[in-house]
Amino acid sequence: MKQIIRLRFAPSPTGMMHLGNIRTALMNRLFSKQKNGTFVLRIEDTDSARNFDPQAKEIIEDLHWLGLFYDEGPEVGGPYTPYFQSQRTNLYQDALNKLLANNLLYRCFCTSEELEKRRARQIALKKPPRYDRSCLMLNPEEIEELLNKKTTFIWRYKLDQEKSVTINDLSHGTITFELKNFSDFPLTRGDGSFTFIFANFVDDMLMKITHVIRGEDHLTNTACQAALFEAFKEPLPTFWHLPMICNVEGKKLSKRDFGFSLRDLKIAGFLPEALLNYLSIIGGGSFKEEVMSFDELIKALNFDHISTTGQVKFDPEKMRWMNNKWIARIPADELLKRSIPYLIEAYPQINNISQERLSQILQLLKTDLSTLKDTVSAIRFYFEQPTLNKELFSHFDNTAKLNVILSKLLDKTTDSQSFIDSAKRLTKEHEIKIKDLFGFIRIGLIGTIEGPSINDLIEILGIDESKRRLRTLINFNY
Ligand code: GLU
Repeated sequence: MKQIIRLRFAPSPTGMMHLGNIRTALMNRLFSKQKNGTFVLRIEDTDSARNFDPQAKEIIEDLHWLGLFYDEGPEVGGPYTPYFQSQRTNLYQDALNKLLANNLLYRCFCTSEELEKRRARQIALKKPPRYDRSCLMLNPEEIEELLNKKTTFIWRYKLDQEKSVTINDLSHGTITFELKNFSDFPLTRGDGSFTFIFANFVDDMLMKITHVIRGEDHLTNTACQAALFEAFKEPLPTFWHLPMICNVEGKKLSKRDFGFSLRDLKIAGFLPEALLNYLSIIGGGSFKEEVMSFDELIKALNFDHISTTGQVKFDPEKMRWMNNKWIARIPADELLKRSIPYLIEAYPQINNISQERLSQILQLLKTDLSTLKDTVSAIRFYFEQPTLNKELFSHFDNTAKLNVILSKLLDKTTDSQSFIDSAKRLTKEHEIKIKDLFGFIRIGLIGTIEGPSINDLIEILGIDESKRRLRTLINFNY
């Protein structure tokens, strides 16, 4: 029988989506799409001290913004509701009761201070810092007494230290963990709430998750979770532990690195298409064509031969390159819609310009933009006449002649077409290169030698404004 593929993205609502989370969500989504599977969003909010985004609003919004849609989860529903762990406590309690009935758990009354002290001692003795099982040795009377005194306790899982567990990981291959190297891990906290390791396992089991794609930082948790799957006699999912994303120096990407938080990338004007494209191809082998749509990525990625145990580096320059390609690629109306918030903030008067004209300007400039924010400086010429200085003309040794031609041009022309035609004729007559004249004119219009064509610039600025700027150029003292 063909396996029904089910994947999940299981973020904790700590208030910030970062590149690592996004890459995890993306790989889950791409994998589920390629294999005709189901992609679930589950919010892991069991740790109330770290719930900075209680309804997971930001996570949901960010996933929407990225276009990473899920088939089951909050707001969408599905056969395994609820999709917030904080609402699934009874299910964890049921699972805990089953383990209790099988005598696989024991109460631990050790305080965190005691545990910390013992840990430090073990580390000093160069021993693995495992829980020493002191509470496993308590006899029933001692337990009774502690309970009577209302001593806080947690439930620990009694790992069978004789055994090992083996998992299958798409990038690491088969991994065997000797359980004697692991502590009897906690299933509950002192306040009675359930731990990440346990709730995460229960949900993966109950939600029939077949593939767990998550960050490599969870690899060691997998040993304990595999032991739980065995205890419940449920099949283990296939894992894919994704390498952590590093900066260009090879250090784990941190808050200090640009690009760490999605919010920063959004504000800087990166497109979701470019982000997803970039995050899909880093660390994923080499591709003939790097700029790919989501559908192309689904086809291009080879999940059967993954070689991603190496470093995955986030290079902001390459990201900017990718964004530039995508800015040129999205439809004109999209580029307009997405640029407007940046432009309005910088130029409130932009409301007076027709959408059509604005779009026309953006189309002209788009290949020079690395981010949407770049539209602000790129479009400045429209609102501000350039400030001229002598240095701008250092390239020219014939400004006097260019000036004469320009004066004639201004006298004769009434629109962009006649301007260009006359310019061509006059440069021929005066034996001047047209490129020189246009470079000179461009400085007068927008302050740079290179840039959009003169025809386009006059179209955008209008012939009157263009002439006004060029008169200033003529009167400038080079
Ligand atoms: N809540 C965990 C995290 O945000 C999820 C780990 C997992 O995907 O299993 O890291």
